[in-house]
Amino acid sequence: MAQLKTTVNKAKCIASQDCVQTAPGVFQLDDEGKSEVYDQRGAPDSVILAAARACPAKAIIVVDELTGTQLFPPPKK
Ligand code: SF4
Repeated sequence: MAQLKTTVNKAKCIASQDCVQTAPGVFQLDDEGKSEVYDQRGAPDSVILAAARACPAKAIIVVDELTGTQLFPPPKK
């Protein structure tokens, strides 16, 4: 089982709020309207990954802490 660590690259975030709508238990907007993670365990892994995929700016990074594998965006080959 994966243990996800999710971060938002605020420099890339365009405040579209897709992530907040997909996983409101995980993401919220800060005072500047940028997304941030406020609860790493606020949604099932599949929902967190869906939120990362939904981000139009590719600003959400999801890593499996146990293996160190970056799950999203997929590592370039
Ligand atoms: S979906 Fe991406 S661009 Fe939109 S608010 Fe979330 S992190 Fe920012």
